[in-house]
Amino acid sequence: MSEVRFDRVTKRFGDVVAVDDLTLEVRDEEFLVLLGPSGCGKTTALRLVAGLDAITSGELRIGERVVNDVEAKDRDISMVFQSYALYPHMTVAKNIESPLIARRFAVGDDAEKRKLTKAERDERVRDAAGILGLSELLGRKPGALSGGQRQRVALARAIVSRPAAFLFDEPLSNLDAKLRAQTRLELVDLHRRLATTFLYVTHDQVEAMTMADRIAIIADGALQQVGAAQDVYDRPANLFVAGFIGSPPMNLLPAIVRIVDGEPWAEVAEAGRVRLGAHAPAGISDGRPVVLGVRPEHLHVGDGQLAATVGAVEWLGHERHIVLEMPGGTMTVREPTEGAAPTAGAAVAITAEPDEVHLFDLASGERIA
Ligand code: ATP
Repeated sequence: MSEVRFDRVTKRFGDVVAVDDLTLEVRDEEFLVLLGPSGCGKTTALRLVAGLDAITSGELRIGERVVNDVEAKDRDISMVFQSYALYPHMTVAKNIESPLIARRFAVGDDAEKRKLTKAERDERVRDAAGILGLSELLGRKPGALSGGQRQRVALARAIVSRPAAFLFDEPLSNLDAKLRAQTRLELVDLHRRLATTFLYVTHDQVEAMTMADRIAIIADGALQQVGAAQDVYDRPANLFVAGFIGSPPMNLLPAIVRIVDGEPWAEVAEAGRVRLGAHAPAGISDGRPVVLGVRPEHLHVGDGQLAATVGAVEWLGHERHIVLEMPGGTMTVREPTEGAAPTAGAAVAITAEPDEVHLFDLASGERIA
């Protein structure tokens, strides 16, 4: 069993709280992505698991073992860095072999951990290189490899010690867009084949959405929400998650709840109102200040009760984004490129699909519905 469990873990650097009272379980064999903006503490959280930084308070477990005081080399995990950190003077084979040289491993039914023989090391290097498609490149040095190949060497070096869990710190950020997309698929496939726990850090929501079994969203060192990509997208727990997940982001406008003929509406100052639909909580009070959230794909131009002016139309081929100016801010509508687009400067009416609107408390930012 190789779950990783943070129990009220805090990490301070002087006055900076990098990780704030984090409780989170990465399940055995799960691919969990820690997602958040730069500086939110995700790398620090990963370094705590790796044993590269010490925890200030709380408890960290890998499997059944509390590892707060276990040295990095004894934690049975491998970490892949953004920079790859390959040895430039060594061949690919030697780079992949390097984690096997000094450490002792549990081998077969042997009672004691021991160092691997040269033949055992060679076999593991061959296996790891085969899994990552590097068999033809074992004699080369990193300088003679492409970025994508170097990245695969770093992955091979991580899997060669067959750890209980893998840690990844933005491993795709040095790759171009095409290679990044391809490597995302390869990582998902690698996770399936290794059937091991993956804890993966990124600020890129596309990486998180496409690869993760579950995403944990962090802001200012604190966990905001954890869930499958679709759950987090469909039901963001608070305003931070609502604004962070989704591109273009969710439209968020201050509004006031109004009960009209027994039905709840959200009234947006100087623009009109939006029907809240059946999922508005029963008994929500008239006059409550809220933030109304609507994803761009759930807004439609024409026939609605919100007034706006078209600011710009962005054409992306398969879809277009219509940027609307309103007294309370801007909104974006995302629609297929069918029919004529409204022109900049036109006054339009907008509809929001009532069952697809989100409501957040204005003061706390927490989801109401
Ligand atoms: P990025 O995506 O930019 O790498 P991150 O989310 O991984 O950011 P961390 O690197 O974990 O964020 O940093 C979290 C906070 O802790 C930041 O405010 C950072 O400045 C601070 N911090 C990190 N390491 C140290 C350190 N060794 N000493 C002091 N402060 C640190």
